[in-house]
Amino acid sequence: MESIIKYIGSIDANYIIIILIALFYSLEHLLGSPFKFDRRLNHFVHNVLFQLPFFFANLAFAVVQVGIVKWSSANGIGLFHLIEIPLWLKVIVGVMCLDLSSYWFHRLAHRSPLFWRLHRVHHSDTRMDTSTFFRGHPLEVLVFGTASTVGCIIFGIDLPILGVYLIVQLPFLVAQHANVQLPAWTDKVFGKVFITPNIHKVHHDQNQYYTDSNFADIFVFWDKIFGTYKYSPVEARHYGLKEFDSAKKQTFWYLMISPFITIERNIEEKPPGA
Ligand SMILES: [Zn+2]
Ligand SMILES: [Zn+2]
Repeated sequence: MESIIKYIGSIDANYIIIILIALFYSLEHLLGSPFKFDRRLNHFVHNVLFQLPFFFANLAFAVVQVGIVKWSSANGIGLFHLIEIPLWLKVIVGVMCLDLSSYWFHRLAHRSPLFWRLHRVHHSDTRMDTSTFFRGHPLEVLVFGTASTVGCIIFGIDLPILGVYLIVQLPFLVAQHANVQLPAWTDKVFGKVFITPNIHKVHHDQNQYYTDSNFADIFVFWDKIFGTYKYSPVEARHYGLKEFDSAKKQTFWYLMISPFITIERNIEEKPPGA
């Protein structure tokens, strides 16, 4: 069991990302979508650009994170060091705990004006598809990298389990942005436990009532427990942020410098019937 966990944790996430992106980009073509838009390849390449600075920021943060997590594990810090549980259970609970930590940091990224300046780059995409997975400001690694580091310290999670969490999380993050309309039953069945693509896309609605909802990456019950779960019909959805809804504000360079520009948040009323 230990060697399997070590193996999963050692897989190069970049290979998995390439496979997942190719798979979901193809599915978008094959299955069709209610949100057709022109110049898809252009949109895709533009979003992939964000991955370049993010890659280096992530690499630099990973060095710090590995050092901190190794140190806290070696010193027996965190809840898992106080209890004796089988390794397989530790992996499942560890992934759940790290998802919980990410849930709270994501919620904070919407609440804190400083963090929102970084996180709104991910929300700015008005035309969602698989490539929206890439759209994020490189400095945002400070928010979500800190989330998993803090989770490891509080819960006593070691590097191999952190590695498993990062791999398990990837298919959810890519699928959630894919521009495909999955049948309603997928929400009914998988949506009881997991954040499905439809559930995450509510989070990308322009209306802030919906933007500030569905914060978890993997498990839907965190939003249900902490009262942030919301659902809206797919047809009624308008993606992006009103304050970024112009061609100039959708460019790579504008979005890179946008955290340093004060942009008033467009707050909408709660939609009727919601
Ligand atoms: Zn968000
Ligand atoms: Zn998203």
